[in-house]
Amino acid sequence: MVDNKVIDGKLISSEIREKIKIFGEELKKKSGKTPGLAVVLVGENPASKVYVKNKTEKTKEVGFNSIEHKLEESVSENELLKLVNKLNNDENVQGILVQLPLPKHINSEKVLDSIKPEKDVDGFHAQNVGKLWSGLNSLVPCTPLGCSILVKKLASDLSGKHAVIIGRSNIVGKPMAALLLSMNATVTICHSRTKSLADVCKDADILVAAVGIPEMVKSDWVKKDAIIIDVGINRIERNEKKILVGDVDYQDCFEKCKMITPVPGGVGPMTIACLLLNTLLTSYSQFNQEAPDLTSILE
Ligand code: NDP
Repeated sequence: MVDNKVIDGKLISSEIREKIKIFGEELKKKSGKTPGLAVVLVGENPASKVYVKNKTEKTKEVGFNSIEHKLEESVSENELLKLVNKLNNDENVQGILVQLPLPKHINSEKVLDSIKPEKDVDGFHAQNVGKLWSGLNSLVPCTPLGCSILVKKLASDLSGKHAVIIGRSNIVGKPMAALLLSMNATVTICHSRTKSLADVCKDADILVAAVGIPEMVKSDWVKKDAIIIDVGINRIERNEKKILVGDVDYQDCFEKCKMITPVPGGVGPMTIACLLLNTLLTSYSQFNQEAPDLTSILE
């Protein structure tokens, strides 16, 4: 599963989805209801369209209902809020995901905070964010949750380890810090104003890159035997071919690190698996069913 140096997110995520399917079938039998995930896509952003297509496919594969809403780029904030409100009150919908980024004329925070916290499978609602930082049970943002599952497979307790995260977004960097802190790591969050970034990274036992700059992290930024989690997804052209690369220079860092996630096939597929995991979790409570111990999903 975690073979040699490559952390195979594709394989790990497919195993998680298989287990979600089994738990989902049990839940359907007990409750007589099927978990439903509503995805709202606004506009024509090509990357967003690909993500939504993947999410929809994987949702159906685990036996959940997928409800898609595609809105014009010009949709008003009010109309979008109305749709979210409708989904909040729809008992066939257990999870709501509004695909980001939203067009500039729409206030993303307002829209995200209008999602019912118990249906907030992206974990972006202020209530879920607050719970995460307070160490309470909450819906956790999918990408950092996926990263933390990968790290847990290598080391469940990070006592005495230094984790460095490059990036402080609400979607990745900040929730990642909360999760690594909960695993007892000593956490440093870096960003565009951080001085001597390479030196800070060089001290990391666990290095998480979530920047959006292709292959920014080079081997001389990496401590020997570090675990590298590369969140970045960057589309670049190389040798006249369009390819995906991470925020870490994979070839350059491979020798020096202990483990590394590839791009593609590392963090990306874990994000979708965690979206489905969050949908399963929130379905138990909405169907008034006691959630079983789900740790086996993550083992
Ligand atoms: P954001 O643009 O929201 O955040 C980027 C962060 O990187 C910011 O905190 C920014 O600092 C920091 N940063 C930018 N330039 C530098 C620099 N030169 N040195 C240090 N820090 C810098 O991006 P996201 O967090 O949303 O995404 C990050 C990457 O992860 C992207 O490549 C994105 O495509 C990918 N991603 C992948 C997902 C997956 O499923 N695998 C899901 C989500 C994102 P500041 O705050 O100071 O501006």
